[in-house]
This record gives sequence, C-alpha cells and structure tokens, in this order.
Amino acid sequence: RAKAAGRGTVEVFDDALRRDIAHRTDLEHALRAGLEDGELVLHYQPVLDLRTDSVRSVEALVRWDRPGAGLLGPDAFIPVAEASDLVCDLGRWALMTAAAQLAAWDAEGGDLAGITAAVNVSGRHLAQPRLLGDVAVACAGAGIAPDRLTIEITETVLVDEPTAREHLRALRALGVRVALDDFGTGYTSIGQLSRLPVDTLKIDRSFVASRDQAHADLVRLVIGAAHSFSLGVVAEGVEEDDQLLALRDAHCDAAQGYLLGRPRSAVELRALATAGRG
Ligand code: C2E
Ligand code: MG
Ligand code: MG
Ligand code: MG
Repeated sequence: RAKAAGRGTVEVFDDALRRDIAHRTDLEHALRAGLEDGELVLHYQPVLDLRTDSVRSVEALVRWDRPGAGLLGPDAFIPVAEASDLVCDLGRWALMTAAAQLAAWDAEGGDLAGITAAVNVSGRHLAQPRLLGDVAVACAGAGIAPDRLTIEITETVLVDEPTAREHLRALRALGVRVALDDFGTGYTSIGQLSRLPVDTLKIDRSFVASRDQAHADLVRLVIGAAHSFSLGVVAEGVEEDDQLLALRDAHCDAAQGYLLGRPRSAVELRALATAGRG
C-alpha cells in the first residue's frame, strides 16, 4: 500500500512539474515573439537629485503589453527570460530603446533634453563579452554619448566575479556609469565597496521603507561609507515624506519612489514634465 501511495505522489509531482515546464516554455516562446513584434515597452521613473531638487535622470523599466493579458511587469517574465539568452536579447533591446528615447527627448529640446537613463542589465548579459559592443552600438546608433547611460546590476549577481568586474571596467572606460542595484539584499560588505567597479549604490527599498531604527542607522552608515569611497547613493522605493526627510538628513544624493513619481510611458512623462514647468 505504501508503495502505491508513493508512486501516486510521484505521478502528481510529475504532472505539476510537467505543467510548470510547459507553462514556462509557452511563456518563453510568447515573449520571444512579443519582443520581435514590438510588444515590449519601457516605462521611465524619475530620479530626484536631492542636491539640486531636480530630475535629471530616469530609470527605464520594462513592461510587456501582452495581447489579452494587459500590461505585465518584469516580475511576470524576466525570470523566464533569464533561463536563456533571451534575457540578453531583451537587454540589447532595452539599451537601444532607452538610448533612442534620450535622443528623441534631446531633439524635442524640452525639459527632458539632456537627461540620463539607467537600464537594468541581467547578470547573464553582464557575463558576455558582447555587452560592451551592445552598449556602444546603442549609443552610436542613437547618437548619444555613453555617459548618458547607467547600467544597473543587481547586487546579488555582481560582487566578486572576475569576468563581471572586467566587463564593468570596460564599460566604465567607455564612459558608461554603473550602479549596484538592490544594495543590502546581497552579500557585499561595506569593505568591498572600495574595490567594486561601480559609480553608484542603490539602496534597496526594503531598507528605505523600514520603520526599524537599526535599518535607519544602517542606511546612514552605508551612505557615509559610499561617500568615503566616492560613490553616489540613490534610495529606492521612497513612498513617504518622512522617509525623504530622513534621507536628506543622511546626505543621500538622490531618491526614487512613488512619492516622487511612478514609472510612466515616455509620452506620459513628457506631458508631466511640461505641465510641471512654471
Ligand atoms: P529594480 O531595478 O530594483 O526597479 C525598481 C522597482 O521598484 C520597479 O519595479 C519599480 O516600479 C518599483 N518601485 C519604484 N518605486 C517604488 C515605490 O515607491 N514603492 C514600491 N513598492 N515599488 C517601487 P518593476 O518595474 O516591477 O521592476 C522590478 C524589477 O525588474 C527591477 O527592479 C529590475 O530588477 C527588473 N527589471 C526591470 N526592467 C528590466 C529590464 O529591462 N531588464 C532586466 N534584466 N530587468 C529589469
Ligand atoms: Mg534597477
Ligand atoms: Mg532596485
Ligand atoms: Mg529589484
């Protein structure tokens, strides 16, 4: 009897696993086709410079306008893309699209002319020597200087991997900025910060949003350490006034979050920037 039950369990598990694999494969195929068919879009979230109180940069965040499914956020499809080189194709597309958008804003000559953009790049893409060429082609194709782009790398992928570090150094030699995203969620120690080839730390929103005094102290400590290594600091996920006040008080360089602006399409962002003037 135990044997029969055991076999039954295995079969149920197999079924669930098979369905899960089939679902992921379908999603991957649909995403690949969607990327080719122009279903992906970038939304842009403003980053407020706390020294000048102005927005001179945005973060590009991908969305998938999947027919029949509405606008999907990255958490719904990036994990599947990351299982293959599809995430590199997506990264290449994001770099080209963001660069072209900056050039378009430049050409309009409005409030968004001259701003910079941060693009999220997967660890898998960072591991490929091709990334350098992808960034160079995106900038040259759009006619923008490489220092208009920041590459965001999640803390959990970077750290001490020699290939990743070498590629980041090459990107920086090109003039591209590098930001360490979601700082605080990985294993980077404050001591390591002095050796990492990055320009900016982005403090993860879980620390920014925390009501815990120990977390607030940690944020201060990280900002101080980052500055002593000449790194800039951006706080992510700022939703409340008192969080912004605390960050200003801790000499944080920049802030991003729903309080300051949600990610929006290029058209919506431009309409807001124009309306906000004067
Ligand atoms: P991330 O790079 O850390 O981006 C910040 C995320 O926090 C975004 O979620 C943004 O919409 C959200 N956010 C911003 N302000 C607030 C706030 O005040 N409160 C809350 N609760 N959330 C806020 P999103 O757009 O869903 O992106 C999730 C993650 O997906 C990103 O985290 C990034 O790691 C990844 N991602 C986004 N676009 C791309 C891309 O083009 N390529 C790759 N490889 N990954 C991407
Ligand atoms: Mg990011
Ligand atoms: Mg982040
Ligand atoms: Mg994140």
